[in-house]
Amino acid sequence: MYRTEPEGGPDAKIMDIAINSEQLYGELEKLASFTDAPPPAVTRVVFSKTDLAARAYIKELCIAANLVIREDAIGNLFARWPGSAPGLPAIGTGSHTDAIPHAGLYDGTVGVLGGIEAIRALQRGGYEPRRSIELVMFTSEEPTRFGIGCLGSRLLSGSLALERALALADSDGRSLDQVRTAAGFTGALDNVVLPGGYYDTFLELHVEQGPVLEQRNIPVGVVAAIAAPASLRVWIEGEGGHAGAVLMPQRRDALLAAAEIALAVESAAKSTGVIDTVATTGVCDVFPGAVNSIPSRVKLEIDVRDIDLARRDIVLRAIDRAIDEAAERRGVQVRKEVLNADPPAQSSRRAVDTLTQSCEALGIPSLPMVSRAYHDSLFMSRITDVAMLFVRCRAGISHRPDEYASPEDIAIGTMVLAHALAQLSRT
Ligand SMILES: [Zn+2]
Repeated sequence: MYRTEPEGGPDAKIMDIAINSEQLYGELEKLASFTDAPPPAVTRVVFSKTDLAARAYIKELCIAANLVIREDAIGNLFARWPGSAPGLPAIGTGSHTDAIPHAGLYDGTVGVLGGIEAIRALQRGGYEPRRSIELVMFTSEEPTRFGIGCLGSRLLSGSLALERALALADSDGRSLDQVRTAAGFTGALDNVVLPGGYYDTFLELHVEQGPVLEQRNIPVGVVAAIAAPASLRVWIEGEGGHAGAVLMPQRRDALLAAAEIALAVESAAKSTGVIDTVATTGVCDVFPGAVNSIPSRVKLEIDVRDIDLARRDIVLRAIDRAIDEAAERRGVQVRKEVLNADPPAQSSRRAVDTLTQSCEALGIPSLPMVSRAYHDSLFMSRITDVAMLFVRCRAGISHRPDEYASPEDIAIGTMVLAHALAQLSRT
């Protein structure tokens, strides 16, 4: 048990927060057992059988904590601890439980299970919230299946047009609508948008996925801004043929054009001279994919991020030009699609101050920081005050089976979250 020192005065009830670290860690491990990859790797793609089983497990935990459950038409899960003034805008917290192929145990899950434990800790401490506290598990924070990240939070914040959502399909050609309906989420998608003033504040607990906290030897970080992500998909159409029969001067090899583009993506990111600019070509699907056949078609997916929107967009334009130049040189056709190009998000001063003060009240050192990964909070910031709390992780490793955060640090993050939820829900 991680517990605070109860103090006298009006805060006495709030300050008695004990985190059951053993139970929380056991739940994280149990959730990781819902995987389509051999453990310790975790693969949990949205609306797969495994994802649905994991969701059922989360719902069980919420029900056991006496939370009132609701699911929307895209599968976002809301689990509410009603306050004594249930009409007031609620305090939200949560994250995601979907996991990219061969990921680890902590990304997203710490914010969902930590959120549940924070609520249980407040309940055990006898705290009674005035505003309702609501846990959210967002659908498909990862872009694995539909090529777009933060699907659930984009839709509930009104950040994704319905026509665009309805046009999304997975790599098997199944539309988002077919897939979500088959998974049991059948309501109208236009009801997913939350009404104005639904939340007062939203806090997201998440592993850092970077090395800063470990390097500074600080257990938690309070996030002041989230970097602006963008992603592109590029289809390259060349000409296939027999790898022996077609001579080199006649070739229009789609993969070689793709290779030039991937290198241009790297140079575009480096050209800013700023460490905050990053760009990655993470998907390269080659057709037909046979050793004795010239690649005729390639699909690339490119991810570009920066905390500065203008600089991020300069890089996007440089990549755009490089794609056209490579196509010209290689005699291939290209088609480009911007999957998303979102502005960065600022945390709210009030939410950041609350988290920082909770750290101080609990005697926990914290570091103000910037998130280079994007999170559901990026979209939540469009409808409510947000801030994130990062938990130190080992060597900054994430999206890999060897991702790791210690039970102690997770408990510390959960305790700070519980304290902040209590502060925010009292008023
Ligand atoms: Zn995440």
